[in-house]
Amino acid sequence: MRAILARSLMEDPVTTTAAAAPAAPTIDFRVPPELAELLERVRAYIAEDVIPAEAELAHPTDVLASWDVVERLRERARERGIYTPHLPQDWGGLGVGPLGMALISQECGVSMLASLGLNAMAPDEGNMHTLLIAGTREQQERWLRPLAEGRVRSCFAMTEPDVASSDPTNLRTTAVRDGDSWVLNGRKWFITGAEGAAFAIVVAKTGDDDRRGHRNYSLIVVPTDTPGWRVVRDPGIVGAHYAGGHPEIELRDVRVPLENLLGGEGEGFVIAQKRLAGGRLAHAMRWIGVAQRALDLTARRLLEREAFGRQLAQHQALQFFLADSAMDLYASRLMVLHCAWKLEHGLPHRQEVAMVKTFVSEALGRVLDRAVQAFGSHGIATDEPIAQWYVDARAARIYDGASEVHRMTIARELLKLAAAGESTKRGCGDLA
Ligand SMILES: Cc1cc2nc3c(=O)[nH]c(=O)nc-3n(C[C@H](O)[C@H](O)[C@H](O)COP(=O)(O)OP(=O)(O)OC[C@H]3O[C@@H](n4cnc5c(N)ncnc54)[C@H](O)[C@@H]3O)c2cc1C
Repeated sequence: MRAILARSLMEDPVTTTAAAAPAAPTIDFRVPPELAELLERVRAYIAEDVIPAEAELAHPTDVLASWDVVERLRERARERGIYTPHLPQDWGGLGVGPLGMALISQECGVSMLASLGLNAMAPDEGNMHTLLIAGTREQQERWLRPLAEGRVRSCFAMTEPDVASSDPTNLRTTAVRDGDSWVLNGRKWFITGAEGAAFAIVVAKTGDDDRRGHRNYSLIVVPTDTPGWRVVRDPGIVGAHYAGGHPEIELRDVRVPLENLLGGEGEGFVIAQKRLAGGRLAHAMRWIGVAQRALDLTARRLLEREAFGRQLAQHQALQFFLADSAMDLYASRLMVLHCAWKLEHGLPHRQEVAMVKTFVSEALGRVLDRAVQAFGSHGIATDEPIAQWYVDARAARIYDGASEVHRMTIARELLKLAAAGESTKRGCGDLA
C-alpha cells in the first residue's frame, strides 16, 4: 500500500510520459484507487456498524463502561479487513502511510467509536508507533503485540501537575539507575487512558546535565501493576472522555528492569517528536471530519427555517458563516494533505506539522462556534451533536502542544531563516 501511494503521488498525468519520469515528486491530490477502495470500506463500516453502535453506549461519552461494544466493533473491523490500518502487515495491519491515515482519520472524525473500533486511536496508536520506531524485537513482542491485537490499552505519561509542561525541560519525574533497575519517582496528570491501561510509556529525567536540556529525558515502559504506580484521581474534563479518562498518577519508588528503556538514554523527546508527527495529522483530520459534519448540519438547518420573511439561508450574514467555514475546511484539508505528503516522501515536515496542529485545531473551534450560532438555542442543547463537539473542540488547542508553543516553534524557524539572510518562504510550507 505504501509503495502504491508513494508511486501514484509522484505521477503527474499531464507531464509524465513513458520516456521521461518527473525529476521530483509532484503533488497530486487525487486519492489512489487502492486507497479509495479502502476508504469506501471504512465509510461502510462507520455507517453500518459504528454509528448504530453509538446508541448502545451506556453513557454517550464513557466508552469504558460499554467496552463490549468496542470489542464487537473491532471484530467487525477485522472481518472487513480494515483493523489497525496504520500497522505493518506483520503486525496485523495494512501498512497505510501518513496520507492514507490522514484520510481514514477524516472518516473516523464523525464518531468517537470509529478510531477505537479500528484500534487506531490516541494514545494507543502513538504508542504502537513509538514501539515500532524505538522498541527492540523483545519489547515489541511484549508490549506492541497485545496492543496491536487489542488485548490491552496503554497510556503516554509526560505532563506533570507541578510544572508548566509545555517546556519539556521543566519535567521533574526522575528515573535513577539502581543495579539492574530504573527507580522512578514523580507525578503525572492528564494521562489519557491511564485508568485500566496495562502499561505506560513514561517520560522521565535520566540525566542531570543542564547543558543537555531535553536530552536529559528518556522513555521508560512501566507496567501499571508495578508497585508504586498509583492512579490518584481523575480530575474530569469538559468534553469527550476517552476510555480510561485523564487521571493524575503518582510514581513512588517504581522499580522496573533496565531493559524497559525505549531507544537510547536521553532520546525521549527525539522519539516522542517522531511519534507526534503522524498523530497530530490524524487528530487534525479527525477534527476536519467533525467540522465538515457540523457544516453539513448547519447548511441544512439554514435551508429549513425562516426569519423575517426569508429562509435563514437567504440572510447574507448567515451565508458568510457557511463561506468562512468552507474556507477554514479547504485550507485545513490542503495543509494536512500537503504535510502528510511530505511525511510520506521523507521530506522535512516539523514546521508544517506545527502549522497544521495550530491552524486546524483553531479552525475546528471557529466552524463549531458558527454552527452553534446558526442553530440558535438548539445549538447548545445536548440532544444535538453540535453542542458536544463544541465542548470537545476546546481541548484541541491544548493537547499535543498548545497553540502558543507551536506558534513559538513556527516563528523561531522564520526568524532563523531571516537571520541567515534567506526568505521566510521555506518556513511557510515550502511550496512553489
Ligand atoms: C484532553 C487532554 C488530553 C491530554 N492527554 C495527555 C496525555 O495522554 N499525556 C500527557 O502527558 N499529557 C496529556 N495532556 C496534557 C497536555 O499535553 C498539556 O496540557 C499541554 O502540553 C500543556 O501543558 P500544561 O497543561 O502544563 O500547560 P503550561 O505549560 O502550564 O502552559 C499554560 C499556558 O501557557 C502557554 N505557554 C507556555 N509557554 C508559552 C510561551 N513560551 N509563550 C506563550 N505562551 C506559552 C501554553 O500554551 C498554555 O496556554 C492532555 C491534555 C488534555 C487537555
